Amino acid sequence: MCTGCGERFAKAALVRFTVRATGTGGELTLDRDGSGGGRGGYVCRNLECFNRALDKKSLIRRLGVKSEHPELREEFARLIEACRK
Ligand SMILES: [Zn+2]
Repeated sequence: MCTGCGERFAKAALVRFTVRATGTGGELTLDRDGSGGGRGGYVCRNLECFNRALDKKSLIRRLGVKSEHPELREEFARLIEACRK
């Protein structure tokens, strides 16, 4: 299920993000190969959904994450762009 729009998609159509442990309480990153495990979530390949998911306070709180990777949103945009080709 997409965290942004709440719709159901096949797993292959979703992008997973995960929390990478850092010294300062964890950072959101993309989980490109699915090896991240643990806490995380899925969004469909839609930048709007991704932004919406990241802006959800409930999600941030549930994941217990303090920050996101500085280039996270750019990276996601590039990823979905590459999938479209
Ligand atoms: Zn969505």
